[in-house]
This record gives sequence, C-alpha cells and structure tokens, in this order.
Amino acid sequence: MARRRLLITAGPTREKLDPVRYLTNQSTGQMGYALAEAGKKQGYQVTLITGPTALRAPRAVRLVSIESAAQLKRACEKHFPQNDILIMTAAVCDFTPVRIMDKKIHRSRGRTVHFRQTPDIVAGLAKKKSKEQTVIGFCLETEDWITKAKGKLRRKRLDGIVANYLDKKHNPFGARNVKVALLEAGKTRVLSLQSKNAIAKKILRWIEEIEVSKRLKSGKKRYRQG
Ligand code: C5P
Repeated sequence: MARRRLLITAGPTREKLDPVRYLTNQSTGQMGYALAEAGKKQGYQVTLITGPTALRAPRAVRLVSIESAAQLKRACEKHFPQNDILIMTAAVCDFTPVRIMDKKIHRSRGRTVHFRQTPDIVAGLAKKKSKEQTVIGFCLETEDWITKAKGKLRRKRLDGIVANYLDKKHNPFGARNVKVALLEAGKTRVLSLQSKNAIAKKILRWIEEIEVSKRLKSGKKRYRQG
C-alpha cells in the first residue's frame, strides 16, 4: 500500500522591509518539527515547509525552505494537491510591507511603513480541498482562546484546529511543555500541560479519528442517497 502523505508547515515567516530589515514573530518551529518527526515514525511520507528556524532538519523528511508569506503560499499550493493531510503549524505574518525598499531605509526618511494584509493561505486551501483531504490549523490567542479558535475553525473551514494561548503564566514560544486544546466541529478537548513531542503524537491520533468520522459520515450520506 502507498504511504500516506502528510504536509506540515512550520516556523515564522519573514516579511522584508529593506535589504537588512524584516517583520517576523517569535515562532521557533518546534511544534511543526515535532509533528514531522512523529509523522515520519508513524510511516507517513512527510513534506515539511519551513520558515527560518534554528532547528536541525529532521532526517528522511522532504524539506522545503521559505521566507515570506507569499513564498509559503506558493509552496503550499504546489504541494497540497499531492498530500492527504495538511497541518498548518506555521506562524504566518498577517501583515507585509506594501513596498520592499531595494536600498536600506535611511534614518532620516523611514518613519512610516505601510502594511497590507497577507492572504489567508490555509483558508484558501481548505476551500479547495477534496473530500479525502484533511486540513488542520493552529492558532495562538491572548484572550478567549477557545471562543476565538472555534471562530477560526468555522471561518477557515478547517477539519480541526489546535488552539494555544499566551499569558503571563503560559508562554508557548520556545517552551518544552505547553497546554493546547484540540477542536473540531462540536467537540473541544483541552489537553494537560505536556511536551510538544507528546502533543504531536496526540494530534496525529486525533487526525486519524477525524478521518474515520469523515469517512463514516460520507458513507452514511451515500447510503441515504442510494
Ligand atoms: O493567524 P491566525 O490565528 O488566523 O492563524 C490561524 C491559522 O491560519 C494557522 O494555521 C495559520 O498557519 C493560518 N494562517 C494562514 N495564512 C495567514 C494567516 C494565518 O494560513 N495569512
């Protein structure tokens, strides 16, 4: 039987302002890399699209390096059709400078930078996915994390979303142990504080359950129509 294909995006994006400066975020890529390792161990054929991180590339995983949200979008659009599952762990910058200056912005000139929104990559892919494909998103919230995650699950038409939160006592950036919640339509499961490696395994098991219930639902529909 052909190995199932798993596409994972990880790390931050970098949005260039000029040849020496960029806008980015604090993502370290650990969660996405942990998912790639776990996926490989479970026999998936893994493609990891990664933004700039300080992590060592996992072995036996196809690695695609990107920097900007625009490059990430292109890479996702290229690889998504060949994959069964997409896990969008990447922390995509929501804004990118309207213009990238080709010379370093001089201190006397550069006081105002205009930004535009980046396209929502995962929402675009989820809209186009086939019935057999499963799309999982991630989110990090600083308030009302479960409510906000539910909104993103619905708006982006995801099969599931992994919610993370950031407050004074819980900072997931670079942390070994984190607390996350797994959400799918009508179901929320809050996991206890644990390592990103342990969470990665649970996420993959959860995705298998989602796939089974999707198959059951589409079987029932066919049965009713037939
Ligand atoms: O930033 P936000 O909380 O909306 O991210 C939720 C999900 O959407 C994540 O899986 C992230 O990778 C994805 N995303 C995206 N394109 C963007 C912003 C976020 O695919 N421009």
